[in-house]
Amino acid sequence: MSLFGRPRQEKTLRAEAIEPTRRQLLSWGCACCAAAALPVSARAAQSPAVQQHLLAARQAAGSDLLAYLKLGEVAAPPAKPTGLSIDELMALPAPPPGRVFDNLYFVGSKWVSTWAITTSDGIILIDAMDNDEEAQRIVDGGMQKLGLDPRRIKLIVVTHGHGDHYGGCGYLTQRYGARVVMSDADWTMMETKLEFDRPDWGRPPKRDLSVNDGGTVKLGNTSLDVIITPGHTMGTITLLFDVAEGATKHRAMLWGGTAFNFGRQPNRVERLQAYIDATGRAKEIATRQGVDVFISNHNGYDEAVEKIQKLKAGGPNPFVIGEDATQRALTVMQECALATMAVWSA
Ligand SMILES: [Zn+2]
Repeated sequence: MSLFGRPRQEKTLRAEAIEPTRRQLLSWGCACCAAAALPVSARAAQSPAVQQHLLAARQAAGSDLLAYLKLGEVAAPPAKPTGLSIDELMALPAPPPGRVFDNLYFVGSKWVSTWAITTSDGIILIDAMDNDEEAQRIVDGGMQKLGLDPRRIKLIVVTHGHGDHYGGCGYLTQRYGARVVMSDADWTMMETKLEFDRPDWGRPPKRDLSVNDGGTVKLGNTSLDVIITPGHTMGTITLLFDVAEGATKHRAMLWGGTAFNFGRQPNRVERLQAYIDATGRAKEIATRQGVDVFISNHNGYDEAVEKIQKLKAGGPNPFVIGEDATQRALTVMQECALATMAVWSA
């Protein structure tokens, strides 16, 4: 791992447990920081404040949340780029879709995830992949493989205004009449100036439904609570909702925008501070609500693809990481953000 090292003892003792995760890390690499980083001097990266926050992040990550540590690469860039680029990840064959809970399904690529939540009155999608072709092949195709009828898609919640999350909205809205839900802040950002774009991402959907902090997205018997977790974009939506496994219910938090890929934006310090504050607030909310499932819209963070394989093999559901691990994941994110702030202030 090229990030910022790992205690030697842990490496020896836990080599077997860590290796698969480590391979996953390497396969995902620094794509999360694409278009992100300001040059960081080696001296700044070695400053005590940066090192202290990276150490805190590493300790919080334990051996089960290593994927989130790549956020620290903005503060302490590896000597050589690691892992695959976005282009390479987008070009990989889509992993098998999977049912994760009775009411939650994964249909995504190795780069970006779409989640489908089933309700008594249709299906809510969270995000829409990079473009129409992926929406058809991966979302539509994946849902059919899982026995879900794409004609039941009623709502698409787009977590934030980057094309790898809204790019396939055109196909899904035209084909199925789905409505698109976003925050006002990100609708406005998309209407004024796209801050992050690629030619192979679909064009932004036209402004449709809005939801803001403290709001809910309702469909049938299902309600998704919305908190705005600014930073990645200023209107990033994070969702809280119940997931079921038979008679057992769990509380899930789906974090809507993880990477610090705003390093070249003029308001980067304000955004990073907003991210630090948002992770702190999310920790309190997660504690109050007993969140024990923490998932992402990029499976390089929550390792959804590997967890689906494990789930198929039987045993306890690996998506139920527990309340402690949920807190630790948010701590890793916050400490990596604090390390980045320290390097930007050095
Ligand atoms: Zn994004």
